[in-house]
Amino acid sequence: MKAVAFAGPRKMELRDIPEPQPAAGEVVVQVAYCGVCGSDLHEFASDMPSMRAAGVFQPVMGHEFTGTISALGEGVNGFSIGDPVVVHPGGPCGECYFCKSGAVNLCAEQTGTGYREQGAYAERVAVRAKQALRLSDTSSLERAALTEPLGVAIHSLNRGVLRAGETVFIAGGGPIGLLTLLAAKHKDAGKIVVSEPAASRRELSLRLGAHHAVDPAQVASVQVREITGGLGCDLAVECVGIAATMDDCLASTRRGGRIVVAGAFEHPYSVNLLNLLLQEHSIAGTFGYASEFEEARDLIVSGAIDVSPLISRFVSLHDLPSAFEELTADRNRDQKVLVAPNG
Ligand SMILES: [Zn+2]
Ligand SMILES: [Zn+2]
Repeated sequence: MKAVAFAGPRKMELRDIPEPQPAAGEVVVQVAYCGVCGSDLHEFASDMPSMRAAGVFQPVMGHEFTGTISALGEGVNGFSIGDPVVVHPGGPCGECYFCKSGAVNLCAEQTGTGYREQGAYAERVAVRAKQALRLSDTSSLERAALTEPLGVAIHSLNRGVLRAGETVFIAGGGPIGLLTLLAAKHKDAGKIVVSEPAASRRELSLRLGAHHAVDPAQVASVQVREITGGLGCDLAVECVGIAATMDDCLASTRRGGRIVVAGAFEHPYSVNLLNLLLQEHSIAGTFGYASEFEEARDLIVSGAIDVSPLISRFVSLHDLPSAFEELTADRNRDQKVLVAPNG
């Protein structure tokens, strides 16, 4: 079968790989749609030594996907061929301290589809049956491919302990920033301000319900202070992963407010801890999702959150290597690109 594999920095290639065989307890999923994740683009474009180049992660990426069950391994009950599913890419061990306390996203023994195991930039992929979550019908296969990143967004708001009515500042209008916006609206946030340099993304954030979309070149924190009558936001979510936007988050947050780090920082960032003390700021990291994955699926399938305005276009496996080039050459060109490996 066909798959797209990482062949080194800035090199993705279409390959023929063996058809996956379901082991006991596994199912094979015929991939309908797989989202191209910013972290995949980051790995593709990075010159840093990577887990994938080192062979710890296998070469086929793709962890945001839906599909239909095409084969059942021994001992799998509760699924039939053709069932539509969205796949939870994490593979927590279920045994460790973190798994037992419900923080499955922090399990150190995770396997993970698209990481240690073959991902979904392929026609088919084998996963453990417990990773597959049922969809009511095939009509939601497209939208539900955004379950994974929406789960990330909901988890980061939970890490920031968002309360109804609070002002939220979101730094970055990429897919995670905009999904955070949709999730914050759903959770009855008060004013939501998005900062984003690209005009097209500022427009989209306003269409999706942001109250203000500001250009960080005009000093985001000054604008946030103006919008909040000088107070500052209650919660800031950093969705970019660079120093400038983290600076904006710290400077935009009121005394006693919270900052969540959702962007993947490639470089260390220094914080003036005296300011942290004086402002009584809380900074929280956020990683993946626990129960929020299922919550995200339900919100998408029920229509409570409409993620479809974030889907920019569809590509085939054949066109995926050039899409990686395009997406890294112009980060603002698209929001979420979905790969449709089976046409
Ligand atoms: Zn992702
Ligand atoms: Zn574990």
